[in-house]
Amino acid sequence: MNPSKLPVIPAPPAAPRHPSSKERHPVARLPEDFHDLLGQLGEPSFRADQVFRWIHQHSVFDVERMTNLSRPLRSRLAELDIACPLDEVTVQRSTDGTRKLLLRLRDGMAIECVLIPQGNGDQGSDDQGSDDQDDDGDDDDASSHPEERRSRPMTLCVSSQVGCAMGCVFCASGQAGLKRGLGAHEIISQVIIARRHLDAGERIKNLVFMGMGEPLHHYAETARTIRLLTHPLGAAMSPRRITVSTVGLISGIKKLGEDFGGKVGLAISLHAPDPETRSRIVPMNLHQPLDELMAALHAYPLPKRRRITIEYTLIDRVNDRIEHARRLATTLAGLPSKVNLIPMNPIKASTLRAPLPETVEAFRRELARLRVSCSVRQTRGDDVDAACGQLALAQS
Ligand code: SAH
Repeated sequence: MNPSKLPVIPAPPAAPRHPSSKERHPVARLPEDFHDLLGQLGEPSFRADQVFRWIHQHSVFDVERMTNLSRPLRSRLAELDIACPLDEVTVQRSTDGTRKLLLRLRDGMAIECVLIPQGNGDQGSDDQGSDDQDDDGDDDDASSHPEERRSRPMTLCVSSQVGCAMGCVFCASGQAGLKRGLGAHEIISQVIIARRHLDAGERIKNLVFMGMGEPLHHYAETARTIRLLTHPLGAAMSPRRITVSTVGLISGIKKLGEDFGGKVGLAISLHAPDPETRSRIVPMNLHQPLDELMAALHAYPLPKRRRITIEYTLIDRVNDRIEHARRLATTLAGLPSKVNLIPMNPIKASTLRAPLPETVEAFRRELARLRVSCSVRQTRGDDVDAACGQLALAQS
């Protein structure tokens, strides 16, 4: 594609309707939702905690295996259809240890999520999504336990939609368009299934919403997934270990900051330092003006020593010039941030491509010279099409 003739798409469709707690899938229910339900069955509230624990701590969906519940309760729960809403189709393993899981939804559509081994000591580069998580000297989650410290940390990259409505021109999901948003039960089930594919000694340390879809497009389902993940009776993840990556939907950024007090990590797909360049590759820029986006980032209630990750996909002759690096430094002035440069991974739907390695290095060096914290993201899993932006609408 000629970079000067990049298409522009209209605003995304309205977010899907959110289910009321009554019709919410059992896997997306918090203990308090089970309390109400089990209360109606005359059961004490601790039973609700037990059911939640089985699903979210022990990855058990089969009520018959919930052995600390009475038989009559188990048969009544069976009517709730507590089944995993996803089936595994294939698991592809990359030579670098990355695992891409293809999962089938109940309506026959398919999604992917990716398990990525975290850092192996390379300097100046980041794993997908582990950005800013390990350099704040604040390891406040369960990893203070000696056994956890010995384990090998993994990052799980989850999808939040089937396809995507944002239309970014260099992204396979964006080019495929939006089929539908995922419910919280479908997002959290990716975590539950991915746990089964950990090798001995591995654990999911970080979770990133960087798979298919725009997580802030249907904010309520993303927020509920975060509540499920961080619940002490479930996976009990620290919100600091969760990163929401967004094209920059301003109202969603504000809500995320308010609802989680800034504790949830934020990654912004900026990809350009000025409105003109950004609108050519991120059409949503026309609806979410850059100056308003930057104002929302400055207002995000970041805890001390935390930074917002700025994702910048480098595209040959589109956004890779030294002037772009200089303007980026100006755009980010005063924002606690860290730039993650991602040389564009090739996709079938576009002829756009990554710059030459020396151009990437020159861009990085210019940012470093201007004292902008930055690193080049190491490509993971590209031999199984699991690298950033390569998660296409999987074949059903
Ligand atoms: N909708 C979210 C999540 C998207 S995927 C967002 O826009 O942030 C996560 C990251 O991969 C985003 O920064 C996205 O822009 C980037 N990405 C998409 N396609 C890519 C490609 N072909 N090469 C490199 N990075 C890509």
